[in-house]
Order: sequence, then structure tokens, then C-alpha cells
Amino acid sequence: MSDFDVVIAGGGVNALACAATLARWNLSVCVVERNANVGGGAITEEVTLPGFKHDLYGSSHVWIQCNEDFKAIQPDLERYGLKYIEPKDHITGHPDRNGGPGIVIHKDIDRTCDSIAAYSRADAARYRRVYEDFEQVREGFVKAFFSPPAPPSALPRALETNEPGLRRLREFSMSARAWVETNFENDFIKAVMLNWALAPQILPDQEGAGQSFYIMIPAIHYYGQAIPEGGSMELPKAMARYVEAHGGKVLTNASVSEIIVENGRAAGLRLEDGRTVRGRRATVSALDPKQTFLRLLGEDRLNPDFAAMVKGYSFGKISICRAQLALAEEPRFLNGEAMSAAPFHRIVDSMEQMTRFYAEIAMGIPPSDPFLWSACWTKLDPSRAPEGKHTLIFDTYVSNWLADGRTWNDIAEDYYAKTLLPKLQQYAPNIAGDVILGKYLQHRGTLETANLSFVEGTTNGGERIAAQLGSFRPFPGYAHYRAPVRDLYMTGPHCHPGGAISAMGTITARVMLDDMGIAPADFW
Ligand SMILES: Cc1cc2nc3c(=O)[nH]c(=O)nc-3n(C[C@H](O)[C@H](O)[C@H](O)COP(=O)(O)OP(=O)(O)OC[C@H]3O[C@@H](n4cnc5c(N)ncnc54)[C@H](O)[C@@H]3O)c2cc1C
Repeated sequence: MSDFDVVIAGGGVNALACAATLARWNLSVCVVERNANVGGGAITEEVTLPGFKHDLYGSSHVWIQCNEDFKAIQPDLERYGLKYIEPKDHITGHPDRNGGPGIVIHKDIDRTCDSIAAYSRADAARYRRVYEDFEQVREGFVKAFFSPPAPPSALPRALETNEPGLRRLREFSMSARAWVETNFENDFIKAVMLNWALAPQILPDQEGAGQSFYIMIPAIHYYGQAIPEGGSMELPKAMARYVEAHGGKVLTNASVSEIIVENGRAAGLRLEDGRTVRGRRATVSALDPKQTFLRLLGEDRLNPDFAAMVKGYSFGKISICRAQLALAEEPRFLNGEAMSAAPFHRIVDSMEQMTRFYAEIAMGIPPSDPFLWSACWTKLDPSRAPEGKHTLIFDTYVSNWLADGRTWNDIAEDYYAKTLLPKLQQYAPNIAGDVILGKYLQHRGTLETANLSFVEGTTNGGERIAAQLGSFRPFPGYAHYRAPVRDLYMTGPHCHPGGAISAMGTITARVMLDDMGIAPADFW
């Protein structure tokens, strides 16, 4: 098989973002994907009924909107079929079944604060101050997000010199639960904000999560909540077309079995069918670190200290139980038209519910009263369903193991029927009977079969604990996307800045272009 300048294992968004950035600088790149389609965590399939397009995994594209290297190729990607659609006004709904009006997060900060003020004027004012803070740090945040991580001392060093800085550092160090308890007074608002902050699968009492509020709250108003017309997968499809149009190749149904090492350098990939694809200048693994180093490279090629770090890498214990529905009509939520106008909803009742929820997860018990995330993307993008019809995703986090020894394959149907759907119906009572035209369930069993990078059904490429963030992600000394074998690079959610549809593969490409002397990076 032919040689390329660079060969990349895995065909998810980050591999393709890396490939597209390299291709933009005239390198020939081959992307090797095990599945029949590229996309990985951004796959769209008609899993319920013909004509109903369901985003099976990642669906809301927030962080990619502030990736400058992605923006540079976006006009070309649009020529290859990518078209982002953004809600103009209503973004997220938080319905309330306990007598309150619910909260709607609008693109517009004033309307959002009005909605929060119906519960507490003080909390609305606090929300606004967090939003306004962002302007001071926006440029620095975007740069830090899309650069190799700064040293662990950089943030404390910048903030520790005066009292306001120290106060901020203290807030940044708090757990998400401590932060909402300190900053808000109303229980429903606390639960809504806590639930939102835990979306990247951090735990409520995990310290160091306080800073996420100062990014998450403003970012939704600045960058919105875009989705690709036709489904999440239109992004990786357009990227694959871009790579091929620039002289590259995207191989599908091609499973990597080995990273070839010759003369002490990574020289390409061997596939399970025996073929080899050679990378003259570099090889990239966009696969999780355990697969990359223990299976594809082999422990015998690793320094024992490094092998120990790989073995100790934690994916966490949280998975998801998700239902995909084909619907005859859109969901009508409690709290009126403005609530139903939002395309997606985070449904949570109280801080007490959050506490019980995470206690049950820790004990391997299916959450008895789960919070829900739901998205009806067809409200924004009617092309995803037959005329007048809709799709709905709704899910909750669950432990990826069960204390009673059963598996999610055993209990998912029952959990959907007895817990998930009844919970949704408390808030959107019309989702019942003949309105539900089709259903498809997802859980640990389906996730780990579909994508080897969803290790044990986890969704985020590695736990977001302090010991695995920034300069420690994936391992101390290896946070700059270079593996311990010459000409082998890493990209994906186990690298900074972590899991999401952010196209962070562009950072790996920037490091490589710098190392190759092709284009100096501006982030060192
Ligand atoms: C249920 C769920 C919901 C999510 N929701 C959101 C969301 O709404 N917004 C958001 O921003 N993020 C979301 N995420 C996270 C996001 O989807 C991922 O972080 C992101 O897609 C990771 O992209 P990636 O390209 O690094 O890796 P992946 O997309 O995981 O790609 C890895 C690819 O490598 C392939 N592969 C694995 N082993 C081999 C092998 N041996 N040979 C060849 N190929 C191989 C896999 O098939 C896969 O295609 C969600 C994730 C999940 C699971």
C-alpha cells in the first residue's frame, strides 16, 4: 500500500481535524478507521425508522465554534456539505414540575437573567456577573483551550499576587457543589447550575471544578449551540472529503492491529487484514492510550514507568443510558411555549435529587430518580426526520457496572420502561402511546461494541480528575501530544483539553508542523 507523509489511526473528528490541518499545509495523510463510517463519537444513523436521523453520541457542537484552526477550513468544509445551524434565541430549557415557571437559557443574556430572576434576583445578578467576567479572560481562555497545556503553576502564579486574584483562585479550586452552594441561594437554580457543570462527567464533590462555571456560563451565550444540518456526522464526512480532496486517503473497514516501529521511530500502521500503511514523516494515534500503547505498540517497547502510567490511566465508572425516539410530534414541555421552544433540555428537580443520584451511581445502583438530558434537534433541523415528524434523544448518566452482578444489556429495556420514560413524561406528558413511532436504546453494551475508544462504555476519553487534566493529561511529561517513540503523536479526548466535539486534533497537527519545521506554532 502507498506511503503517505502521515498516517493516523482512528477516524473520529479529532483524527480528521488533525489530518485536515496537516493537509492544509500540503502533507499527504492517510486516516485509518475500523468502522464502516468515519465519525467515531459523531455518528448519525437511522436506527429507529427510515428517514429519522439520530445522533448516536456527540450532538451539540459548542467548543469547535472557537477553534481558530477549524474556522480556517470551515468555508472549505461548507463546500463539502457542512452547514451549521444555530438556535437564534432559546437554547436550553430547564422545566420545573414543582410550581415554578422553569428556566430558559437564551442566547441573549438579559432574557436569561429575567428567567432566573423569577426564582431569585440575587441569583440572576450573580449569573450576569459570571457572564461579564468572561470578556476579561476570553482571549486567554480560547488560546489555552486550543494550545498544549500550560504548566500547573501558571494559573496560581498569575492569580496569587493580590487579594482579588487569591479569591478567584479559591473559587476555581472549589468543587462544583461547593461553588453553587456559595454563589446561589435558590435550590432549583443551584440544582440546574450543578447539573450543567457536571455534564463533562465530573463528580459533584470533585475539587477544582469551580473554574468551569466561568467558562460554561458565558460560552453558551457567546458561542451558542450549533448542530450540523443533517446530523452530527456531516462534520466528519465533510472533513474526510476535505482530506481526500487534498491528496489524502480515508480508509474505512480498516482495523489497526499494530504501530510499526523501525529504527526506533514509528513508521506507520499494520492493519488486521495484513496491509500496512506507512507514514514517511509521522504516525498519529487518535485511539485511547491503553489501546495505543499496550495493544498496538506493545508493552515490551515501553519503559516500565511509562507502561505503569498507561495502566493507571482512569476512564472512570460512568456510562450512559440513552433512548432514541422517532416521534409523530415534538415534545410539549411543562411551563409553556418558551420552554418547549428550546431544542434541548436539562431536567433536574433539586439538590437532594442530585445527591441521591450520585450516591446511587457510586454504589452501582441504577439511578431511581434520574436527572435527564433531552434533545429534539428536528426543531432546529427538520431535515433529520420525515415532514412534520421528530426525533428525540433522552438519557441519564449511570454507573457502568451494577452491584447486583447484572449488566446493562440485561436491564436497559426495563430501566427505560420503568424509570427513564416515566421521568420524561413527568415533564413532557405527550411523549406516550402512538406519538412514539420507534425506539432504540443505548448503554454500556452498545457503546463499547460500536467504538473501542468508549472504553467500558465511558463517554469522555478519560476521567476529568485533577490528576488527569492539563499537564497531567494523559500523563505527566507527555501532555504535549508527543508519545515516547520518535515520530509518534497522540490526539483525542485523553489529551488536553479533553473530550468534546472541539476538533482539538488541530493542536496535535500544530505541534507536528512545528516539529517538522513547516509552520512554527505560536503557543510555546
Ligand atoms: C453518548 C455520548 C454523548 C456525547 N455528547 C457530546 C456532545 O453533545 N457534545 C460534545 O461536544 N461531545 C459529546 N461527546 C463526546 C464526543 O463525542 C467525543 O469526545 C469525541 O467525539 C471524541 O472524538 P475523537 O475523534 O477523539 O474520538 P472518537 O470519535 O472516539 O474516534 C475514535 C475512532 O477510532 C476508531 N478506532 C478505534 N479502534 C480502532 C482501531 N484499532 N483501528 C482503527 N480505528 C479504530 C473508532 O471506531 C472511532 O471511529 C459525547 C460522547 C458520547 C459517547
